[in-house]
Amino acid sequence: MTKLEWQASTEPVDEPVKLCQICGKFEVQWVLAGTYPGDIPYHVCSNCLGQLVNLELTKKQFKTLLKNGHTDEEYLLHGDFYDEQGNALQPRRT
Ligand SMILES: [Zn+2]
Repeated sequence: MTKLEWQASTEPVDEPVKLCQICGKFEVQWVLAGTYPGDIPYHVCSNCLGQLVNLELTKKQFKTLLKNGHTDEEYLLHGDFYDEQGNALQPRRT
């Protein structure tokens, strides 16, 4: 019987590890793209993905997203959901 062996890759990584655009702490695990017209793809970790889609980002997370190239013109960040300070106005509580 053939035994399969997996070897850890030792190839150098072309790009530096990308960190979540919301928390900046964890590696990007999800790219949320094309959800709504005009939205810029969100590169996020699993933790933050839930908060993003449930419209319950903290002020700090909201501002970090804006710093990372997003705008409050995007559906998930627009003025009905967050005020100018980034307070969540309509979090979807589960
Ligand atoms: Zn994150």
